[in-house]
Amino acid sequence: MQSARVFPTSRPTVRRDRARRLHVVPDPVPLPEPIHPAERRLRDAGGPDDRATYTCQCGYLFEAPVNTTVTCPNCSSEQAW
Ligand SMILES: [Zn+2]
Repeated sequence: MQSARVFPTSRPTVRRDRARRLHVVPDPVPLPEPIHPAERRLRDAGGPDDRATYTCQCGYLFEAPVNTTVTCPNCSSEQAW
């Protein structure tokens, strides 16, 4: 007569209590550099001040937006830039 070998039907499961993973919180995004007050004013005013002072050959001094074609409001001659 054969002796019946008894196999365990289930092995005891080793439940390892894993250390709870801590949530890795990324560093907060650094705040942008504060805007310089002068730049803030320019931006609020609608952008950088692209105006320049021109001196015409006629002697007229005027301020106009920076452009490739600036004409003197006094003599209407085109200004070199
Ligand atoms: Zn002029």
